Amino acid sequence: MEKNKLQAAQKKLKAIYGYDAFREGQQSIIEQVLDGIDTIGIMPTGGGKSLCYQIPALVLPGVTLVISPLISLMKDQVDALNELDIPATYLNSTLSSNEERIRHSRIKEGFYKLVYVAPERLGHPTFQQLLQHISLSLVAIDEAHCMSQWGHDFRPSYLSISSWLEHLPQRVTVLALTATATTQVCKDLQQFLHIEEQYVISTGFERSNLTFQVKKGVNKKKFMFSFLAARKNESGIIYASTRKEVEQIYHELQSKGFEVAPYHGGMNEQERSKGQEAFIHDEVKIIVATNAFGMGIDKSNVRFVLHYNLPRTVEAYYQEAGRAGRDGEDSDCVLLFSPQDVRTQTFLLEQSDRSNDRQEMEFKKLQQMTAFCHTERCLQQYILSYFGDDTDKTCGKCSNCVQTGEKIDRTKEAQMVFSCVKRVRERFGKTIIAQILVGSTNQKLKQLKLTNVTTYGLMSDWTQKDVAEFIDILMAEEYLRPTGTSYPTIQLTEKAVQVLTGEVSVHVTQALAPDEPEEQDDVFEALRQLRKQLSTENNVPPYMIFSDRTLKEMSRYIPLTLDEFSSISGVGEQKKEKYGLTFLEVLNQFENDKPAEREIVMPKRNGSSKKGKYLETAERFQNGETIAELVEALALTDQTIVKHLLRAEQEGVELNLKQYVEDEKQQLIMQAAEEVGTERLKPIKEILPEHITYHDIRFTLGK
Ligand code: ADP
Ligand code: MG
Ligand code: ZN
Repeated sequence: MEKNKLQAAQKKLKAIYGYDAFREGQQSIIEQVLDGIDTIGIMPTGGGKSLCYQIPALVLPGVTLVISPLISLMKDQVDALNELDIPATYLNSTLSSNEERIRHSRIKEGFYKLVYVAPERLGHPTFQQLLQHISLSLVAIDEAHCMSQWGHDFRPSYLSISSWLEHLPQRVTVLALTATATTQVCKDLQQFLHIEEQYVISTGFERSNLTFQVKKGVNKKKFMFSFLAARKNESGIIYASTRKEVEQIYHELQSKGFEVAPYHGGMNEQERSKGQEAFIHDEVKIIVATNAFGMGIDKSNVRFVLHYNLPRTVEAYYQEAGRAGRDGEDSDCVLLFSPQDVRTQTFLLEQSDRSNDRQEMEFKKLQQMTAFCHTERCLQQYILSYFGDDTDKTCGKCSNCVQTGEKIDRTKEAQMVFSCVKRVRERFGKTIIAQILVGSTNQKLKQLKLTNVTTYGLMSDWTQKDVAEFIDILMAEEYLRPTGTSYPTIQLTEKAVQVLTGEVSVHVTQALAPDEPEEQDDVFEALRQLRKQLSTENNVPPYMIFSDRTLKEMSRYIPLTLDEFSSISGVGEQKKEKYGLTFLEVLNQFENDKPAEREIVMPKRNGSSKKGKYLETAERFQNGETIAELVEALALTDQTIVKHLLRAEQEGVELNLKQYVEDEKQQLIMQAAEEVGTERLKPIKEILPEHITYHDIRFTLGK
């Protein structure tokens, strides 16, 4: 391309927007567009798609037309451009005919570089006439996924765009932009717009500043209040699925003194835009909304998106959650899951009068959304792979990545489930399978003669609910495949077959007891506040001080001395020196919450057997690996390794840990224990010589 065009673009970036460099993807998209190549640009929310047409609009001669789905937001976008002194306007049905006439004539005079229109307007005769008088150089289609029926936001009016383009009197460059394109949606766009693969520029979908969390079995209301209380000054969106629920949440929050506005389709246009404006301009901190809210909202400091209910598709979820953190700052996306929501969504889908194909697809999407809530994989990774970006990389901070529960070998139980599915010839769904396995006396099983199958009662020590949940996990991990219907039957995948033949084993994290309160969230919040403060003072992003994961670990262990502090994963020498004392100041306020040593080993869990990783650790230790080697190999702290070993020994694994402590040390330790008791280790450690370590003490005293 011409070098000076690119230079011109770069100049604009700096002079107008005040940015030094293009972000990933922006430059290639802009280069292509300036070269007159039709382009599809896929960048995550907040990636900076607007600049990809705004800057070319300034460099190219003539007018850039921006097709944008929402009338209500055109004004904001145009206002923002006008703030930057960029001549832009919009045409939509909110204008008086007089105003429209004035704008038309100014457009003809060539006064505006950018004109925003809704797709509905493209076919209007007056608009068609206007086109005769202007020279278009670029047509930008924002939220282009609305063109595809496979997208979650399909808009029939977007379908007319491609034929409209084909009938334009002159050739124009086309740029289609979206943040949520599955492979299928992308193919559709290519086909509609005749754009070859090589001109699709995608920077992927990853949003590294978002922390995804799925909360299962929490009291939603309670969770919400404590979540919000910890974010008093932060701006956020709460999504609920029905108008009624929006109203309810809104009133409750308001009565508790939160600055909040509601938003849903049952409100009139004026009320809605009032709430929306107040939110955009930080006059209210929180907006409670149905999914009607948000498309095209460019508010950058949304710090959290809380989903009170399950969205219907992963696309919708990611787009809604993705409205957090456009500015690149750390933000939270929390989804409160309850099985009831799946039933509600299923019901709604059943009621809708879609074609069978369409309905089947919708059920499949709902299942994939549900699987997101049950998966054990990194949540960001799950989303990326949903959009076709398979990666091994994990985010390190979502609720699955920071899940501290140990993985348990559930191969045997998985095999039971799979054989049961096979026995009933893949003709039944989750509930029936669970009932057979626990040996339910339900009449229906008898009628169906399912009490005779060999797997009947095989998991009688489980509750039906736990088995059903286990099946959810197995579906999320793609061992089982549900059919795409409202009463899905379950089938085995290739992966399950490999488990049955013993080639693959199944490890799952044991779920937390449903009603267990969040572990010491107040500590975490206090640490977060401190991090935020330090981040402002030192002018570095919060995550560069400590990751959430590190703060989580601190909140769990509550280190009280510099030594303890440095044993937290993520705390190196530098960080210890720079931030140690400041953090300890806060941590010491929570001294009373510090868990006793042995409670740290395993958070309380439901269910009985906890066969797990500690046995693996013990086995490897028996086979000669040292603690230091195990720390490396298993990515656990040495404390955890030691706890694994102690536990294994206590449960009868022959490790003879004492042998690793010299006799003389053992004697001293026993004496000390006599003296101060074995209630806590610290007093023992304190009266012993320096060189005797906690490990020595633990190994000597056993569990
Ligand atoms: P998208 O439409 O892709 O969701 P936006 O166009 O709204 O994203 O841009 C998100 C934010 O990123 C805006 O605040 C924008 O000013 C900013 N931004 C865009 N490009 C750059 C850049 N090259 N450098 C710094 N900030 C940028
Ligand atoms: Mg945008
Ligand atoms: Zn993750």
